[in-house]
Parts: sequence; structure tokens; C-alpha cells
Amino acid sequence: MTNNVNITRMSAYDYRAQIANGEAVMLIPVGSVEQHGAHMPLGTDMMLSTTMSELTAEQIGGLVGPTISFGYKSQQRSGGGNHIVGTFGFDADTVIGICRTLVREFDRHGVKKIVFVNGHYENYQFIFEGVDLALRDLAAQGGELPRVMMLSYWDFVTPAVIERLYPDGFPGWDVEHGGVMETSLMLEYHPDVVWMDRLIDHPAAELPLYDLLPVDPSLTPESGCLSSGKVSTAEKGRILAESIVSGMVDAISSRF
Ligand code: ZN
Ligand code: MN
Repeated sequence: MTNNVNITRMSAYDYRAQIANGEAVMLIPVGSVEQHGAHMPLGTDMMLSTTMSELTAEQIGGLVGPTISFGYKSQQRSGGGNHIVGTFGFDADTVIGICRTLVREFDRHGVKKIVFVNGHYENYQFIFEGVDLALRDLAAQGGELPRVMMLSYWDFVTPAVIERLYPDGFPGWDVEHGGVMETSLMLEYHPDVVWMDRLIDHPAAELPLYDLLPVDPSLTPESGCLSSGKVSTAEKGRILAESIVSGMVDAISSRF
């Protein structure tokens, strides 16, 4: 894959040279370590947020920061639930603290344009909170504040692409966990860790309009996925990624 934009593969000397003019755009992928059924790996969310960030950074001349792998607790109605072995759910404080620290550290390095690229449904509000608290910390110190954009990558799939790839109706991004989008993107970018012969096919989960704690495990399909990835293909992954990357490029270019 593309490695020349990811700062974790650069020397400190090269990193410093790349951010020296104060104009660098830093994309920070945010994922999770979470079960994705029998056909995809625990690192699916961290891998896809990283890949979408790298493809976008290449087009805008940006950089990709360290991937946050420790995501918030999987919710039964969007990720199967945190009770499932293979899923690692971190407390909100942890996710908030990591995001808060990264904004502060990049600011200290002189990076003033930051984009959090979320790839795990449950993270979003805690990324927002971490950024908000970091800006409050920095405002108290005075000086120029960094500008920070936050997004979840699937929101950039256009309605036209959704219509084309989900001819029988779109189930919603919440139940896409382990479904056609993630599976197709993985087939295109990380095919070595997708096992289509082990995929468990079933109708999209019918979940109630409420949450329960302790969870009722019977609400989650046996597969751990909330919809079926059966009709996934690498070509669909390419179409999805084109839509996502071009939308992210436009959004970032318009603000930074
Ligand atoms: Zn996922
Ligand atoms: Mn997830």
C-alpha cells in the first residue's frame, strides 16, 4: 500500500521537514479492535480508517498520523455489542484522552490543520469531545488554535453509489457492521485477511429501538455481523473508495 504519507514510517528528520512550513494537513485514523464475524479480522476498522486516510492524504499532499486502535465500546445496535469475545471496548475517557493528547501534541509540533477520520461507528462523539477539550486547553495557553475537522468516512459515500450498490435497499450505516461496505473495501485493499468462504449469510438484523444493559445476546445475529457481506466484491470496494476519497478531498480542500 501507500506508505510515503504515513508519519509512523518516516524518520523524525523527514517528519519535521514535512511539517516545517506550518501548512501540513494531518489526517488521524480512528478505528477499533472488534469482531467482524467469521470472514474479517479484528483490525477491520483500524485498517479501513487508515487506508481511507492514506488514499485521501496522497491526493491532497497531506500526511497520516498514528492510527488510534483503541475505540469506544461496541454497541449492540451498531457493532454487535461489547459482550462478544474478540471485541475490545475502551471507556469513553480513554478515547477522549487519546484524541485530546494527539491534538495537543500535533499543535506542539506546529501542525495546525488536523482531520480525524473515524472508521468505528461508536467513536464519533468521543473524538469530538477530545478535540473540544484540547482546544479548551490550548485556548487557555493563548496563541493560535489549530483547526480540526472530524468525520466518519462512510458519510462520503454518495446517494448515487448507495443506490447502485444496494439495489434491494440500503440497510443503514449502523447495521453495515461486517456488511457489504466494509467487506468490499477489505476485498479491494486488504484481500489477504478476508475469508469469503467463511462468511455467514443472513438477513439484516432486526434490532429494537432501545438498548439494554446487561445486553440480551440473542438480539445479535450468531455471525456477529448486523448484515450480510455476501454480495461484496473488490470492484464495489473500488467504487466505494472513489466516492469516499473524492468526498473527503473536497471537504478538506474547502476548509484547509
Ligand atoms: Zn467495522
Ligand atoms: Mn466498528
